[in-house]
Amino acid sequence: KKKPKSLEKKHCNIGTIGHVDHGKTTLTAAITKVLSKDGSSKYVSYDEIDKAPEEKARGITINAAHVGYRTKNRHYAHTDCPGHADYIRNMISGASQMDAAILVVAANDGPMPQTREHLLLAKQVGIKYILVYINKVDLVENDIVELVEIEMREMLSDFGYNGTTTPMILGSALKALNDDESEIGAPSIRKLLDTIDNYVPPIIRDLESPFLMPIDNSFTVPGRGTVVVGTIKRGIMKKNDEAELMGFGFNIKTTLSDIQIFRSSVLEAMAGDNVGVLLRGTKIRSVETGMLLCAAKSITMSNHYKAKIYFLARSEGGRKKPIFSKYSQQMFSGTWNIACRIDLEPSMEMMMPGDHGDVYLTLLEGMVMTEGQPFTIRENNVTVATGIVTETLQ
Ligand code: GDP
Ligand code: MG
Repeated sequence: KKKPKSLEKKHCNIGTIGHVDHGKTTLTAAITKVLSKDGSSKYVSYDEIDKAPEEKARGITINAAHVGYRTKNRHYAHTDCPGHADYIRNMISGASQMDAAILVVAANDGPMPQTREHLLLAKQVGIKYILVYINKVDLVENDIVELVEIEMREMLSDFGYNGTTTPMILGSALKALNDDESEIGAPSIRKLLDTIDNYVPPIIRDLESPFLMPIDNSFTVPGRGTVVVGTIKRGIMKKNDEAELMGFGFNIKTTLSDIQIFRSSVLEAMAGDNVGVLLRGTKIRSVETGMLLCAAKSITMSNHYKAKIYFLARSEGGRKKPIFSKYSQQMFSGTWNIACRIDLEPSMEMMMPGDHGDVYLTLLEGMVMTEGQPFTIRENNVTVATGIVTETLQ
């Protein structure tokens, strides 16, 4: 019997990023307009996108519009934010974790400070694919467009993307929105969409790596033992595989005695499956929600991580006072929480509410965290910061 090597998810999270007024919202509207004419999506006007509803993500307010559209190949959920601060909060909190981003840069301005900052953030929060749309080419000579393209390729390389192979599409989002069928109008949007379809690979569930499953719940089956419940994040688990239960400083060796999907026993289960797993010789009191079940010897736990953090401004319900190194509070991620100390970069004396930057986390006990994992910091049950893990330290 042939096993599927991977399961394709025909869905992609994307978004427009870039300097204010470079045409992000116009481009978003133009994409839906062109696709609506081609019959595969509903047109969403500039005004509908720009009056982005406020959303509460983990205690912080982000203005963001989520626009859905469909190409021949895929369904996209597209995020467009109205202001620079909204992008910072959105990206650092992982509120809409983008698989790819369209970096919009206006040809008449070239790259500007927010172009750089969004690109840097994109890299730090783990956005793998960037495409560049050089907008407003109706306003400048071709030579200028070429210079902007060179500058953008250099900037991409500086930030760790591949400046040589990153697709650049030239056009005018405004002309496209106004149904202009000249090359820089609607055709530039079709070209952009075709390029995204091809450049951003389908999101594949990882079935090759050793299995890993965060524990959502656990209970005792009288006469049998401890069952842990969760959704397998990656890999394939098989009955009788050796495994480790990790988290909160514990590393417990065990064996998968039985695996159940929808209450029937199976010989194996794979990424995406929601399963109950009977663990041999494991006591229920040693299992805590938020622990991780993983293939034996496949992962190491740490209590040191580097992270990107955003401290909520006072007006967002954040702290009133600045944050210094050795700031200790409860950290929440997924289904667990733990005491955590935050240290600032040595060059930084303090951070103010409303600031964002790199910090070092020291957890009270070892936990397994992966790059891109979002977390929040709460003081007396009030969220004061949100962040994303960027690196595991030893
Ligand atoms: P955002 O802040 O990045 O979302 O930028 P907007 O989409 O709101 O666009 C800012 C301004 O640039 C608006 O007045 C748009 O009409 C204008 N604009 C957008 N795209 C183009 C374009 O291709 N050509 C020209 N000439 N103006 C454009
Ligand atoms: Mg906008």
